[in-house]
Amino acid sequence: MATRFRSILTVEADRLLDGLDPDQRKAVTTEAEPLAILAGPGSGKTRVLTRRIAHRCLTGSADARHVLAVTFTRKAASELDARLSQFGLRDLPAAGTFHALAYAQLRSVWASDGRTAPTILDRKARILGQVMGTSRRVRAVDLATEIEWAKSRLVTPERYEEAVAAEGRQAPIDPGRVSTWYRAYEEQKRKRGVVDFDDLLALAAARIEQDPSFAAAQRWRFRHLFVDEYQDVNPLQERLLRAWLGEGTDLCVVGDPDQSIYSWNGADASYLVDFAVHHPGAEVVRLDHSYRSTPQVLAVAGALIAGPSGRRFEAHRSDGPVPVVTGYHNDRDEAAGVARVIRELHRPGRPWSAQAILVRTHAQAALFEEALLRAAIPYRVRGGSRLVDDAEAAKVLDAMGRNRGPLVSVLDDMEAAVAERREAVPGGSSAADPTTRAELPGSAEAHRIEVHEQLIRLGREMLAADPGAPANAFPGWLRTMLVSDTSDRGDAVTIATFHAAKGLEWDVVHIAGCEVGYVPISHARTAAARAEEVRLFYVAATRAAEALRFTWAQQRTFTTEPVDRAPSPLLNRVRDVITDLGRSSRTAADSGAALVRARRALAPGPDDVERAIASDLRAWRDRQARNASVSPTVILSDRGLDALARTKPRSRLDLEGVAGLGPIARTRHGDKLLAIVAVHLHDDRQSDAPGVAP
Ligand code: ATP
Ligand code: MG
Repeated sequence: MATRFRSILTVEADRLLDGLDPDQRKAVTTEAEPLAILAGPGSGKTRVLTRRIAHRCLTGSADARHVLAVTFTRKAASELDARLSQFGLRDLPAAGTFHALAYAQLRSVWASDGRTAPTILDRKARILGQVMGTSRRVRAVDLATEIEWAKSRLVTPERYEEAVAAEGRQAPIDPGRVSTWYRAYEEQKRKRGVVDFDDLLALAAARIEQDPSFAAAQRWRFRHLFVDEYQDVNPLQERLLRAWLGEGTDLCVVGDPDQSIYSWNGADASYLVDFAVHHPGAEVVRLDHSYRSTPQVLAVAGALIAGPSGRRFEAHRSDGPVPVVTGYHNDRDEAAGVARVIRELHRPGRPWSAQAILVRTHAQAALFEEALLRAAIPYRVRGGSRLVDDAEAAKVLDAMGRNRGPLVSVLDDMEAAVAERREAVPGGSSAADPTTRAELPGSAEAHRIEVHEQLIRLGREMLAADPGAPANAFPGWLRTMLVSDTSDRGDAVTIATFHAAKGLEWDVVHIAGCEVGYVPISHARTAAARAEEVRLFYVAATRAAEALRFTWAQQRTFTTEPVDRAPSPLLNRVRDVITDLGRSSRTAADSGAALVRARRALAPGPDDVERAIASDLRAWRDRQARNASVSPTVILSDRGLDALARTKPRSRLDLEGVAGLGPIARTRHGDKLLAIVAVHLHDDRQSDAPGVAP
């Protein structure tokens, strides 16, 4: 019986190897420990990790009840959980974040000590506000970031200044002051008997290091350790991981140094890269095949991190459409344009959930939410900053529901109030950082302002349809627009930040806001910070399985006035590859027809392009005319404008033949006109137009 049971298990275990390539099989089955699996995006690392866990459980080399899969976010933990539960294991291995695990362990030890657990400080802001006193020019949010960075690097207040200098970190606050405030913050916490999130990790590690029986219990409980996305581990987490591991060696880590995107937060990819140094005797397995993305997506992504020759990965998918870059006149056009393309690409076999819009900052999501709402396309915002769930929005809507006055005057009042509050918030929404900062006071206010602005915009939308609408009709109107289309379950387009998209994949990925200021983000000033921005963009691009589309806007409105934006310098690399891909697809006659068909399905129609060029030319012409105080047609005639949009010139030579374009306009504005046109020319033709600065 036992033998029969075992053989059934073996068959089950063997089945886990189905659909793996030889390297992946090796990574799943090797008995080596510790083990590191190092490979690029879409090479199957996460697939291998989960199968390895299942395989070990089924073959009996690990007991699921003693397996721990460590993740960096709760979302990642639940996703690992979901993947693991598909294998039909009798017991489900534990998947959790460093924080959750540390906290659980500490609670048990505090209970056995007979102590009550200290209160956990989920926001540093209050205490920081106190220790900073009246230093109004320093934002608490920046101080919190510095303290978090220091703690993740195991840097004490005393050593903070030295560490900043040694690591060439560009801190937004004078390091001497950070050090003083950091010390005072720690002191305050101690006095009040509270701990912060980072303390949980340090306390758990310290307890294990100092208390052998506690250590033994923990190491017995979790004796098989697995970590995905290990490139993002920081020294504090590494310390805890080491404490859990003890003298043991049963550790398997998986990651990709090219996707390390948290070093601003203290993460250090060298734990992964130098794994064999840190763990003598460790085995390192590499995977060289890419299963997620088409060769076209890989070519573009590869050029981002490795120059034009790109990174060589063997693509397993067949050819797909050439990626596309589209520039829009302004941010609202961009959002509407992306929504339109999403609808065009939605078809049988490609549900809404196969598409995602990725943005650099949370704040960018709002315009896309509105555009998708307007287009009646269901969506969800990953990380859940959705308007419907927002407490501030609920408050405003509640008040509106009780107001029988005209909506238009409520909106006017809101607008005036927002303008005033904007003045008071340093930095404004454009400076909001995507990840940790959302919780802090400056950004809470910024968030509030954003919500109000979003509601104002939607309110104006309702007024466009119903100018006399009373305020109390607005909540109902909004709800009807929102409810049917944005349910969390069900088929929906994802809107996510680049950070939140890590590890995930979609058939179609729209990367929006590819502009200087977002890509790279404006506060990335050191070479290291900018290199991280490149990796982040690479992470975003490698989420695409089939179609990859980049968009940007020539103008963006942050407060009231639109500001001019330039395309991200990284788009130049993208464009070079796109040009090459276009060229090679023209020569590859056999696969060409299919490619052209696929591309046609993905590219905007010819009229769209023509219209978009005309609209950009008109906007540029209007600006020029305003600046020079002349009428627009003095800058460029309507006939010239239409001809440019229609003929889409690519070179100075082409310009010669454009009807209605006089020699003066040609000489004075030729490069500019070509640049505006070039923004809209992508995949299918070779471009020899100059750069594309707006
Ligand atoms: P990332 O670095 O982005 O986290 P990853 O290396 O973890 O990527 P996975 O998410 O595990 O990659 O796999 C990428 C995609 O390729 C998934 O859809 C997965 O199911 C598929 N895949 C992986 N290995 C194979 C294979 N041998 N055959 C077919 N598909 C595979
Ligand atoms: Mg993965």
